[in-house]
Amino acid sequence: MEAKQHDVVIIGGGISGTALLYLLARYTDLKSIALVEKCNGIAALNSHGRNNSQTLHCGDIETNYSLEKALSVQASAAMVVNYAKQLPSCEHILYKYSKMVLAVGEQECDALEKRFQEFSPHYPAMRLWDADGISRIEPNVVWGRNERIAAVGATGEYSAVNFQALADSFVTQAKSTDKNIEVLLATKVKKITDLDGRFELETNRHTLNAKTVVVSAGGHSLLFAQRMGYGKQFACLPMAGSFYFTPDILRGKVYTIQNDKLPFAAIHGDPDLLLGGKTRFGPTALMLPMLERHNWKTIPDFLRLFSLDAGVMKVMWDLFKVSDIRNYMLKNILFEVPYLRQRLFLKDARKIVPSLQLQDLTFAKRVGGVRPVMIDKENRKLLMGEAKINPGNGIIFNMTPSPGATSCLQNAEQDLRILVNQLGCDFAESKFTKELKG
Ligand SMILES: Cc1cc2nc3c(=O)[nH]c(=O)nc-3n(C[C@H](O)[C@H](O)[C@H](O)COP(=O)(O)OP(=O)(O)OC[C@H]3O[C@@H](n4cnc5c(N)ncnc54)[C@H](O)[C@@H]3O)c2cc1C
Repeated sequence: MEAKQHDVVIIGGGISGTALLYLLARYTDLKSIALVEKCNGIAALNSHGRNNSQTLHCGDIETNYSLEKALSVQASAAMVVNYAKQLPSCEHILYKYSKMVLAVGEQECDALEKRFQEFSPHYPAMRLWDADGISRIEPNVVWGRNERIAAVGATGEYSAVNFQALADSFVTQAKSTDKNIEVLLATKVKKITDLDGRFELETNRHTLNAKTVVVSAGGHSLLFAQRMGYGKQFACLPMAGSFYFTPDILRGKVYTIQNDKLPFAAIHGDPDLLLGGKTRFGPTALMLPMLERHNWKTIPDFLRLFSLDAGVMKVMWDLFKVSDIRNYMLKNILFEVPYLRQRLFLKDARKIVPSLQLQDLTFAKRVGGVRPVMIDKENRKLLMGEAKINPGNGIIFNMTPSPGATSCLQNAEQDLRILVNQLGCDFAESKFTKELKG
């Protein structure tokens, strides 16, 4: 059979791939775009609400973000809100819950007050609450507590997203344009060959031909890149996150202050959008030797990406030599051990709800995905946030740990601009700016 021809083929039907599909279909004059996804549905892995924290990150309650990072994430989140507000299905995509980051004890409270002074000029809805203020919004956070607490947050703002519903809407909207949009589900790309000026993609079902390719396939993106000779300076450290359920003891999102020494976000409590009537605590951060959670077949792929050479050893050593990180990693292993896990996690969750009881806490089975955190072997450091490999020949590889779902449209915009340059097509920039950045 003759190979199908496309202007762009996107590999991966998660939130990243579908956001790009939408932007290309709506704002360029490209005629033919395909999206290839190996699962039977859109956003079935990390972008599914079951597997992430469902947070629209705006940078106001994430104390691990600098002001610069926070403002960039705030701009990404605004694009998601501007997009979804145009849709009749908006109320199934975006949710308004109160949100706050909680400081416990003198030191944390003082640090949070300082942060509030710095950040509040950029966040008009941001408020600083003392215990009384907090108890009006989240009574269970205050109940049974002796130490001083403070919180910074907002009410009445969009703070939660069903990222799978968002991804579905991107596909529906892309298909509603006059472009030739092909969405191939249950189609696994096995090999990409660069044929000098075009790419051939071998899948389990068809062979596809593309002028340009964007790989947004989680940790697999790096594997594709390295097979083609790119991104050899990177390794991938998959960090799995697990969650615990309680009855609905929180009305909104309650984050905790980040320990500066830890490179991973502290646990938080969130209302579960998919289940209703339950609060979800987590995520934990467990190094897992697999690129996809609960998919043992991805262990060999992980091993291909995690050779223990000098660069990786140096990064691992830098992590393990800090006692806070060592203890944290050990604790996160124990968080997976039946019987022990609830008991250990209870202590952390009580920082948010002091009156929480062991019988209220259940381990959320088969909930939580994997963040493909990148290691830069040349510079011997852990890269937090999204990573992109762009060799400049029409193929792009994206690796998107948190807050990658919130940043989906901002990341897709970067890819769109690269593709517009590569293909010399038109980009309706003023329409794009008006609709998404307005
Ligand atoms: C525990 C946890 C909590 C998180 N919380 C948040 C949060 O609250 N807010 C936020 O913004 N972000 C959050 N994130 C991050 C967010 O989930 C990810 O950044 C985002 O889902 C990544 O989307 P993606 O489309 O790049 O990857 P994925 O959703 O992983 O999609 C990649 C797709 O590629 C497909 N694929 C892989 N290989 C192939 C192949 N060979 N052929 C065809 N298809 C292939 C896969 O099947 C998959 O569907 C969290 C992540 C985790 C793990």
